[in-house]
Amino acid sequence: MAKKAPLRNDPREAFGAYHQGGETSRHTRRRLMKIQWLGHSAFKAMLGSAQILFDPYLNGNPKFSGNFAEVVSGTTHVLMTHAHNDHFGDTIEILKQTGATLVATYEICSYVSSQYAQAKICPMNIGGTARVGALSVTMTRAHHSSSFAAPDGKIIYGGEPAGLIARADGRSIYHMGDTCSFSDMAFIDELHNPEIGIVPIGDWFTMGPREAALAVNRYFHFKAVIPCHYLTFPMLAQTADEFVRQVKNVEVWTPAPMGERTF
Ligand SMILES: [Zn+2]
Repeated sequence: MAKKAPLRNDPREAFGAYHQGGETSRHTRRRLMKIQWLGHSAFKAMLGSAQILFDPYLNGNPKFSGNFAEVVSGTTHVLMTHAHNDHFGDTIEILKQTGATLVATYEICSYVSSQYAQAKICPMNIGGTARVGALSVTMTRAHHSSSFAAPDGKIIYGGEPAGLIARADGRSIYHMGDTCSFSDMAFIDELHNPEIGIVPIGDWFTMGPREAALAVNRYFHFKAVIPCHYLTFPMLAQTADEFVRQVKNVEVWTPAPMGERTF
């Protein structure tokens, strides 16, 4: 499948961040962003003036080796793709310690409010964009499931699973959540043109490396991609080698857990 024609409408123009200073590249640099992989699907990102935690499963995450208090200190936003505990993790504790705002589906926000009434929440749903402090967050489709496990073993509905595009200062990160590939990813790229892609590759519960690479190649124009949801547990893929081999024309950053860099 051929790459698509240039965007007719670049949504970043609506945020006043692009085509300034004579810059014409598709992913114009403005302000550096810093991204750290905390293992599994958990990431810390400094984006504009926001300090984000995506899917902060830290305690119990075999690949998280940081100091919990230091890592979460200063968090302004917790962005949650779905309710499963390998993503929801320490969300409530982090909200309590930092006063950060939780951005998640209506159902996850409602559940969190039932557990912690003072939680700052931004409930939203798929297709929507919300402005939350220094960030704009778009919730996209992901094909998966989303639920909490109650102590009695019952399943509590967590709303639809989602991907999340965080944007500030003309920079953007698309955390795909847990998902298979789907052809509407092309529409997400056309409409939102995300710059950095966080892509599950571990197989079993999500795309495997081959499917994830094909999705990146076929549907997106990322500047860089970061694989996730692998290495954590024995049943998941243990390396990103096949993903790296199969991704074409895009930088793949494969940090060790806790690794960080700027983009
Ligand atoms: Zn997961």
